[in-house]
Amino acid sequence: MNDDIERVLYSQTDIADACARLGKQLSGDYEGKVPVVLSVLSGAVFFTTDVMRQMNTYTQLDFIDVSSYHGGTKSSGEVQLVTDISRDVSGRDVLIIEDIVDTGRTLKFIIDLLKDRHAKSVKVCTLLDKPTGRVLEAKADYVGFVVPNEFVVGYGLDYKGEYRNLPYVGVLKPKIYMDK
Ligand code: 5GP
Ligand code: MG
Ligand code: MG
Repeated sequence: MNDDIERVLYSQTDIADACARLGKQLSGDYEGKVPVVLSVLSGAVFFTTDVMRQMNTYTQLDFIDVSSYHGGTKSSGEVQLVTDISRDVSGRDVLIIEDIVDTGRTLKFIIDLLKDRHAKSVKVCTLLDKPTGRVLEAKADYVGFVVPNEFVVGYGLDYKGEYRNLPYVGVLKPKIYMDK
């Protein structure tokens, strides 16, 4: 699996440092509150568990699953709710945890949903931000790394469901797109 990677963008150490930095910021910003930490399945699961453990505040963990990619490397443009949140978010501080914000469609869809349901506050923490991919306005409040406009995998991010378990974030060799 490691042989499929052209180059590593963010190592395990880089990611651990980012989680510590973001966790510290989040601990301060959510002090005295009990945010619903809303992890976006499946890509954000790895980042969620690491960043949450760096947050020295009370939290409640929840999940949402939306689809827009349908397994390829380009966004389909249409976002669908696959699995809904399990709790009522009205009046709650919600912290969305994402793996990557690209076009912004997924994020906008989730933020709109939470606002419709009268969340008290909605903030976004993403491991990766790809601002050059943006189609809709969607801003992350906490960002691990700003990535170039390349398709990346690892640490939760997949290509056709694979590579999520790589401990780092890297760029796939182009031949993988042709072979698989
Ligand atoms: P958006 O709706 O902002 O275009 O992107 C949402 C989802 O697309 C992300 O949560 C992620 O699952 C997927 N995505 C966007 N860019 C990449 C990328 O470079 N690599 C991978 N593996 N997934 C991506
Ligand atoms: Mg995602
Ligand atoms: Mg995906």
